[in-house]
Amino acid sequence: MSHSHPHLALANLLFPSIAHTSESLELLYPARSVSTVTRFGPSPTGFLHIGGVYTSLLSERIAHLNSGIFYLRVEDTDDKREIENGVYMITEGLAKFGITIDEGPIGKDGADVGSYGPYTQSKRGSIYQTYVKELVARGMAYPCFLSESESVAIREEQTLAKQPLGIYGSYSPWRVATLEEVTEALSAGKKYVLRFRAHGNPNKRAKLHDEIRGDIEMQDNFMDTVLLKQTGIPTYHLAHVVDDHLMRTTHVIRAEEWIPSFALHIQLTEALGFQAPKYIHIAPLLKADGGGKRKLSKRKDPEANVEFFFEQGYTVEALVDYMLGIMDSKYEAWRLENPTVNYKTYPLVIDRLPLSGALFDIVKLDSIANTVLTRLSTEELQSQGLEWAQKYDKELARLMEQYPEMTYKALDIERHTEKDPRRFTKFSDLRGQLQFFYEETFESLKNTAPSLPECVTPEVQKAFIEDYLKAYDSTMDRDVWFEQLKNIAHTHKFARTGDEWKTGEYIGRVGDIAMMLRLLLCASAKTPDLCYTMRVLGRETMEKRLKR
Ligand code: GLU
Repeated sequence: MSHSHPHLALANLLFPSIAHTSESLELLYPARSVSTVTRFGPSPTGFLHIGGVYTSLLSERIAHLNSGIFYLRVEDTDDKREIENGVYMITEGLAKFGITIDEGPIGKDGADVGSYGPYTQSKRGSIYQTYVKELVARGMAYPCFLSESESVAIREEQTLAKQPLGIYGSYSPWRVATLEEVTEALSAGKKYVLRFRAHGNPNKRAKLHDEIRGDIEMQDNFMDTVLLKQTGIPTYHLAHVVDDHLMRTTHVIRAEEWIPSFALHIQLTEALGFQAPKYIHIAPLLKADGGGKRKLSKRKDPEANVEFFFEQGYTVEALVDYMLGIMDSKYEAWRLENPTVNYKTYPLVIDRLPLSGALFDIVKLDSIANTVLTRLSTEELQSQGLEWAQKYDKELARLMEQYPEMTYKALDIERHTEKDPRRFTKFSDLRGQLQFFYEETFESLKNTAPSLPECVTPEVQKAFIEDYLKAYDSTMDRDVWFEQLKNIAHTHKFARTGDEWKTGEYIGRVGDIAMMLRLLLCASAKTPDLCYTMRVLGRETMEKRLKR
């Protein structure tokens, strides 16, 4: 073969055995027949970030509401961050949210499903090389053998000359290297990266378009950015442009932190002769910190990890409603009007996506979560709560299984009544609401129970309880029950009203007696309504606990 064309010769020298060409890849991954293709491209760190769920949910909705495809692509080019099972944790996590993935490493044992794979970047090496080889052959990419110390020297020179730092234009010696120089460096075993040959002009501007932000004007990329690292592994920039083209992504929905690289991505797209997808750069979920806001941090914030919400027993319905509410300001009103309709019927649009970061608001989430659990029937609350407890609170699960009837009655207190106190926000609230009903957990609660009101002396306590148990009747209507309680308390010198109390002739108020009963019966000051709690406990347990 004659290497008359120096770029072609260089390409063949660097990539002697590449099976594909860009044309053959086009045939292998033909245009799709659907109008919308979106994807989620996580790094398999074994950690599903709530922001990742947010992005996936949005991407999945946009695809499926338009009869399109939503696929998962594993971006494992940064092997330091990889952990075993990382992909499984992501697919499993998304599945819990009901986010349907059409293609990706989602088959048995992580096998690929779909004909646009491999869906894992580390398995796509030869594809990236095909394109880099063609860029080299067209003079748009070149090998750069700069050592660490040479790069540092270039930076120092740029600092002195007050020039932008980096490898570009005349600062890049290997841009103009001859074939002989490259051959020599290769045979000397020098390590190299492959760089994009950019225009090198820091004054050039780029005009870009984002589907929610509109036109964006910014400094164009002028850096000879690395496309393939020394290991031959692509950088995010190359992998993104190649993969989203070949997998026929129509809408790149990704975090706004990629806006600074947007111009580079469009340059690469053009250099490779691809048609650019639409870009949607979304605002991140934020956390209030001190006086300001910052991105939810994997390291600092437990709630960055979706597992936190599962552990707490938030329902996915609540989390999904909460996230859709952030994405689309009209969602909340729709949900109010359609409380039980599947969110998948909601016509989500990208037009109302917030352009600045939304504060992750636990109070808001709690209020939604509370509404979701309040809507469940008590049977559902019991069975879903048990399922949660089997995983996250085994002792509670055992008790719930051992005493199903009492559990049902305890959960059912005042639910769906006019005074429904909406006691449950997340399944982890079940323990606090059930623990005094089971003998085992009641016993351990007693160690931390608050002390009785001081005005209720042991003698008063004994005398009152004797009278009270004689009169108590579990079939009494709640109002009658309360009247009776007040009257018996009154005979033991507890004031029934504020006016009575003011006379100074009483040793305490009815509230003190009620608190005493509550503490003796439940070892806790926070219990459901006392009348109903007594009914669930039953006479035998009441006697045992009050008389001890
Ligand atoms: N792997 C990239 C990330 O973790 C994906 C960005 C994208 O969606 O293009 O941020």
